[in-house]
Amino acid sequence: MADRVRIFDTTLRDGEQTPGISFHLREKLEIARALERMGVDVIEAGFAASSKGDMRAIQAISAEVKDSVICSLCRCVEADIRAASEALEKAAQKRIHVFIATSPIHMAAKLHMTPDEVYDAAVRSVTLARNLCDDVEFSLEDATRTEPEFLYRMVEAAIRAGASTINLPDTVGYAAVSEYGQMFRDVLAKVPGADKIILSAHCHNDLGLSVATSLEAIRAGARQVECTVNGLGERAGNAPMEEIIMGLRTRKNYYSCDTRADTRRIYQLSRMLSSLTGVEPSPNKPVVGANAFQHQSGVHQHGVLSNRETYEIMKPEELGIPQQSLALGKLSGKHALADRASQLGYRLEGEELNSAFASFKDLTDRKREITDRDVLAILRDARASLNGAYKLFAFQIFTGNRMTSTATVTLEKQGETVTRAATGDGPVEAIFNAVDDIAGMTCTLMSYNIKAVTEGRDALGEVTVRVNHEEDTVLGRGVSTDILEASCLAYVNAVNRLIRHREAEKQTEEAT
Ligand code: MN
Repeated sequence: MADRVRIFDTTLRDGEQTPGISFHLREKLEIARALERMGVDVIEAGFAASSKGDMRAIQAISAEVKDSVICSLCRCVEADIRAASEALEKAAQKRIHVFIATSPIHMAAKLHMTPDEVYDAAVRSVTLARNLCDDVEFSLEDATRTEPEFLYRMVEAAIRAGASTINLPDTVGYAAVSEYGQMFRDVLAKVPGADKIILSAHCHNDLGLSVATSLEAIRAGARQVECTVNGLGERAGNAPMEEIIMGLRTRKNYYSCDTRADTRRIYQLSRMLSSLTGVEPSPNKPVVGANAFQHQSGVHQHGVLSNRETYEIMKPEELGIPQQSLALGKLSGKHALADRASQLGYRLEGEELNSAFASFKDLTDRKREITDRDVLAILRDARASLNGAYKLFAFQIFTGNRMTSTATVTLEKQGETVTRAATGDGPVEAIFNAVDDIAGMTCTLMSYNIKAVTEGRDALGEVTVRVNHEEDTVLGRGVSTDILEASCLAYVNAVNRLIRHREAEKQTEEAT
C-alpha cells in the first residue's frame, strides 16, 4: 500500500508573490474551485492580515470550498492569528498556518530578535492559534539555514504547543538534495513526538532542485508537500505541483507514496493559471510544457508509433491533455468553442461566451484553420475586454521615419465616444498617449511584448503590456491581425483594469 502524501497548494499565497502577478477575487475563487476538484488536500488561500483583498478572498473561498482544508498564513503576531481565524470562520475544514524565521541571518537582520525571543513568540502564537483552531501548522522559515540544535528545540516546542503539521521550508532554495532529506531524518530521530505529527516540505527552485528536494523529503518521511501550479512563486518559483504529483505517481514503485490528486485535471489547471497570469510555462517544462510529449527525431517517432512506452513514461491522457482534438473552423458552433475552451482551462458562459464566439467567427473569415493557440488568444481577449469601461471604436495613425508619429484614437464608454489626438516617438507610443489623455491618467509602460500567435502571414498578433499607475501594476492584452490595433486593445485593456481596481478599492474603503 502506498502511503498518502498531502498536497498543500500555495498558488494563491506564495504563487501570488510572483513578480507582476496578482489575482482578483473572482480569479482566486475560480482557482480554488479547480484545486478542490483536483483533490488538493490543503489550499493556502492567502495571508489574512496582509490586505483586505486577501481577507475577502479567504472568506469567499472558505464559504464555498468544502472538500479541501482552507488555510491562512500568519506571522507570530496576535492580530495576524485573530485575522486568520476570522477569515476562516465559514470554512468546513480550516487550518491556521503560523510561521517565524529561525536562521541566524533572518533572526538578526530581519526580525531583530534573539533565539529565545523567537522561541517564546512561536510558543505563544502556536498556543493562541490552537485555541482558535484545531488544525495548526507551524513553519520554521529558512529551516535549511537554521542551526540544527535550535531547529530541534523549536520543532519540539511547537509540537508541545499543539501544532499538528511542522513545515521545514527551504525558503531560499539553498539545500542540496540529500542534505534536505537528512534534516527530516534527523528531526524524526531527535525530536520527541515528531513521528506523531505530519512533517512538511516547502521548496524553492533557485538552483533548479525544488522537485528533487521535495521528493527526497518524502523519502525521508515528510507526508505533506507545499507547491504551486506551474511552479509560480517568488524569484525562480516554488516547487511545481504537477511535477511532484507525477513524480510520485509515475515512480510509485520506488517512493511507495501517492497523493489523492486526480491527475487528469493537471493540464486544465496548468492552462488556467497560464491564462490568468499571462505566464506561459517554457516549452520544455516537464509535464505541462508544449513540447513535453512531442517526439522529433525519426528514431523516437518510429519507436512511439510501434509502442508509446518506448519513449513515454507518462500518458498524455493521464494528465488530461486533449488528444487529436478536432480542428475548429468556419462551421464550428458556439458549443464546440465552449467545449474547446473548457479543455484549455476556461469556463465560458453568457456574455463572455458570446463575445468570444463573435471574435471566433470574425477570425474564421480571415483564417482557414483555427488552432488551439488561436482559441487561447481569443479567450484571453474576450475575458480581458468584457467588463471594460472603455472600448476601442476607431483609430488612425500618421507615421514615418522622418516625422513625429500622430495617433487619433476614439474610445467608447457607455454609449459615448471621446476622440483625442497625441504624438509620440513611434506609432505605439502615440496611441498610448492618446488613450492616457482620454482616460485622464498618466501611466507608465513597464513592458511591451508582441508575438505572432501562429505561423503564417495571416497570423494573429498578440500584444501584452504591463502598465503601472501609482501603486498598481496590471497586465493588458490585445489580439488582432493588425499589430497596431492589438497594441491599442492591449493598452485600453490595461487602463480598464486600473480603473476597475481603483473603483474596487474605493468600495472596500466605503464598506469598512
Ligand atoms: Mn515560500
